[in-house]
Amino acid sequence: MKYSKRILTLGESLTIAISSLARDLKSQGKDVLSFSAGEPDFDTPKMIKDEAIRAINSGFTKYTQVSGIPELRLAISEKLKNENKLNYDADEIIVSNGAKHSLFNVFSALIDKDDEVIIPSPYWVTYPELVNYFGGKNIFIETDEGTDFKIIPMQLKQKITPKTKIIVLTSPSNPTGMIYSKEELEAIYDVIKDTNIIIISDEIYEKLVYDNITFTSPGSINDDMLNRTITINGLSKSVAMTGWRIGYAASKDKKLIKLLNNLQSQSTSNINSITQKASIFGLNGDTKMDIDGFVSAFMNRRNLAYELINNIHLLDTKLPQGAFYLFINIKEVNPDSMAFCKDLLEKEGVALVPGIAFGMDGYVRFSFACGEEQIKLGVNRIDRYISNLS
Ligand code: PMP
Ligand code: GLU
Repeated sequence: MKYSKRILTLGESLTIAISSLARDLKSQGKDVLSFSAGEPDFDTPKMIKDEAIRAINSGFTKYTQVSGIPELRLAISEKLKNENKLNYDADEIIVSNGAKHSLFNVFSALIDKDDEVIIPSPYWVTYPELVNYFGGKNIFIETDEGTDFKIIPMQLKQKITPKTKIIVLTSPSNPTGMIYSKEELEAIYDVIKDTNIIIISDEIYEKLVYDNITFTSPGSINDDMLNRTITINGLSKSVAMTGWRIGYAASKDKKLIKLLNNLQSQSTSNINSITQKASIFGLNGDTKMDIDGFVSAFMNRRNLAYELINNIHLLDTKLPQGAFYLFINIKEVNPDSMAFCKDLLEKEGVALVPGIAFGMDGYVRFSFACGEEQIKLGVNRIDRYISNLS
């Protein structure tokens, strides 16, 4: 069969590939501890599940509006106003099958051939793949530990050209957990304010922040930034709803929302009707206690994993401010992150994601979205692996 050139540009998501490999090995009876999954291990809060059951029993099982039922979009609009200081109306929001789907649609609506998209590196695996898929050009900005893996204005200035269309910001970051402060976002704004550059702000980890750090949405810093920002978020990480598939995009550009609606009306139509009803409870504050519980458990796990990893000779990691990943520097053990991960999986049955998947070799991503016992066991095995090498 002759496949389209477009589809052949696309690789499999490495984060998903490694999590699936670990799952397969486990189901074959192998003793595998996986720290590769990018999803909370908690169950979805009961209130959300009960509402889903109610929706089924009441027959809420038909097609809905393509962009989402009005009460859901209203709940998202209220959430964005109250929690993120983002003034989006319900008709400036479109609900899709996960934030990944929102990103796919938004990139599709914005990228023409050779448009340049600036992506700070390390980056979440999906962005550059989508940019390639839609014929755009990835322009990476390499960051390092010195700036907590965040871009600085000077770097951004150097990468901007007349072809720059979009800058992708992910805060808290996957894979580093770092968060841009309001002042840092203002400095980024100063660099782009005289251009037409669009910001795509991926805020999927926004609820998972630690140490009383305040999360700032890029679109909240001023009106011009709000107008040029497309805010992407969802419920996968905040209320442990990865399997339900809900994400959303918000933009002050109503025409963009209409175009996204057209695209979705010709592809997936509305997301699952039951998920829509249930998700309202993940947005309106009713599950705040559940979310607080998740965040506090994640913070304890982060502290534990951070301390244990840094106690291992030759490994070093920064304290993440948000999300549920440690981005561990392995350069003194093996700068080839893929080789390190393969060897570690073979010898000790520990699955991590190589930094190269996120555009940065010499690092591995360790997800602490699992129980403390598993963290202790896994880190012990990593320690033993490194000791046996020398
Ligand atoms: N953005 C980032 C940075 C992520 O890590 C993920 C996790 N899959 C997503 C978006 C997409 O999440 P989902 O499609 O489950 O909403
Ligand atoms: N975002 C998660 C991760 O980075 C889930 C996997 C994926 O969607 O790529 O592991």
